[in-house]
Amino acid sequence: MKLIEPALDNLISLISRLPGLGPKSARRIALYLLKNKNNLMKPLAETLSIAHSKILRCNICGGIKSLDVSCTIQKCEYLSNSYDQLCIVENIADMWAMEATNIYKGHYHILGGTLSALNGSDPATLLINSLIERVKKNNVKEVIIATSATIEGQTTAHYIHDSLKGLKVKITKLAHGLPVGSEIEYLDDGTLFSAFKYRNSVSEK
Ligand SMILES: [Zn+2]
Repeated sequence: MKLIEPALDNLISLISRLPGLGPKSARRIALYLLKNKNNLMKPLAETLSIAHSKILRCNICGGIKSLDVSCTIQKCEYLSNSYDQLCIVENIADMWAMEATNIYKGHYHILGGTLSALNGSDPATLLINSLIERVKKNNVKEVIIATSATIEGQTTAHYIHDSLKGLKVKITKLAHGLPVGSEIEYLDDGTLFSAFKYRNSVSEK
């Protein structure tokens, strides 16, 4: 016999899919929401619905954009000028971590994940074609690959390097000194700062 209302059961199972939450915390959050139905659960549900319909991924840089306006992070729609550097990161949290170091204030390309033979990630979802287009269209001089020091991050870095072969662009990678297996998002500012500063060239140019 099931002791739980199906709608509550469903709520708990959805909450438990959020990063960092197990079934126990999910139950606690679900009960807290029920207890605060009008002042928290309702506005949260409405905000989620608005965010779902209004926040989109920019097909050019992979950043976040609003349905009503153009790409807010990189202003992709307006960019036709040259820019010297383009930093490639796995996700938005990595971009924020990079920005916090203050070492790089240029443009970003946000892959939205990594390539992995295990989970079958598709290169098309990583906006690789758009990356090639940006490098050509914006006369990018240096592509800085700032993927994590994990197997997936390094596989992705190789793939990007191969994809950019033949283009007149310098390709650099964050220096090792990044702990093996580390994810960019969780590195302290100092480690990330020095890895960026002493990045290695991985292209001939
Ligand atoms: Zn964009």
